[in-house]
Amino acid sequence: MSVEHAQVTRADFDQVMVPSYAPAAFIPVRGEGSRVWDQSGRELIDFAGGIAVSALGHAHPVLVKALTEQAGKLWHVSNAFTNEPALRLAYKLIEATFAERVFLANSGAEANEAAFKLARRYAHDVYGPEKFEIIAATNSFHGRTLFTVTVGGQPKYSDGFGPKIEGISHVPFNDLAALKAAISDKTCAVVLEPVQGEGGVLPAEQAYLQGVRQLCDEHNALLVFDEVQCGMGRSGELFAYMNYAVTPDILTSAKSLGGGFPIGAMLTTAEIAAHLSVGTHGTTYGGNPLASAVAGAVLDVINTPQVLAGVKAKHLRFTAKLAQIGEQYGVFREVRGLGLLLGAVLADAWQGKAKVLLDAAAAEGVMVLMAGPEVVRFAPSLIITDADIDEGLARFERAVAKMTQG
Ligand code: PLP
Repeated sequence: MSVEHAQVTRADFDQVMVPSYAPAAFIPVRGEGSRVWDQSGRELIDFAGGIAVSALGHAHPVLVKALTEQAGKLWHVSNAFTNEPALRLAYKLIEATFAERVFLANSGAEANEAAFKLARRYAHDVYGPEKFEIIAATNSFHGRTLFTVTVGGQPKYSDGFGPKIEGISHVPFNDLAALKAAISDKTCAVVLEPVQGEGGVLPAEQAYLQGVRQLCDEHNALLVFDEVQCGMGRSGELFAYMNYAVTPDILTSAKSLGGGFPIGAMLTTAEIAAHLSVGTHGTTYGGNPLASAVAGAVLDVINTPQVLAGVKAKHLRFTAKLAQIGEQYGVFREVRGLGLLLGAVLADAWQGKAKVLLDAAAAEGVMVLMAGPEVVRFAPSLIITDADIDEGLARFERAVAKMTQG
């Protein structure tokens, strides 16, 4: 780094970065637990969790140890060789879920890309080339590659990039009749988030997921659950499908899986996995020893009765206070979500004001997210302390008070 760039500020972003993001006015430089400090030394409580990624907060000692120990041993060998952390991680994922085989990637989009390609490949091999259609949900989000953004049900993200991937359609979420009308023997997969994250923190209904499973079985379509955002303990179970007792054929994970280190995973059965034979799919970094070592440690910490029960208890603490804030200031129509993926839906009078509230919250010292212009989203560490929840929500309440009192 040249001397003149030793000091960088938010203003530099506009000089050197592609303008596809509009980051906050401050730059975080350090984190510990659920607290973050910016360049000026100002402390903030983190209810954003890096968009449902920092599942164990910042600088968790177990993760720091896993990363630094692996960093001193072996960083990378490519998939021309396997490696011990990746194999250990795969065993842990298999032991904890329905899955029998794992494909490791670097992100949620890549895990989904693998899932969608596998679903098509499986249908192609078993039923023939006509069976390639994918049905997904309106308002869903599955990533930003051209395939995943096309499967995602938000045209604002997929329009304007030329021809889209063919054979993809969308039906309203939680509407079984709509899926029933759309599904056919040409459908190779139905793709759903058990809790829609970006689409507004909207959990699936029990009867809906059960009905979807049945329709998939009737039409020999694979059921793909995208648990990139709602998985890895965030729902109060290790994976959200466990709340519903509806088992997918393919499941994708990322975000919290690495606790902040980039990794993604696609989980499936041995029978389906067999169709990704040697050479059909791959990635240079996926299952990299550093990422796998960290994810293995994340899984060990999260997949315990104490942490998962803690998520459910913290859910109640959050929702009780958010309900009180909503009522007192008339700002929320509804507080919804599972575990520690929560959405406060703005009341009509505050429509479209999620960003205003997010900025007001940051000014009071608490980082929150939005999920569309109508929903303030909370995705904190799964092990956030009650004291940090209370303090963060007190700051949030001050932001609400300021916004509503003009
Ligand atoms: N799937 C879901 C449900 C997500 O919420 C996201 C990211 O927000 C993705 C996929 C894409 O993950 P990534 O940004 O790691 O590619």
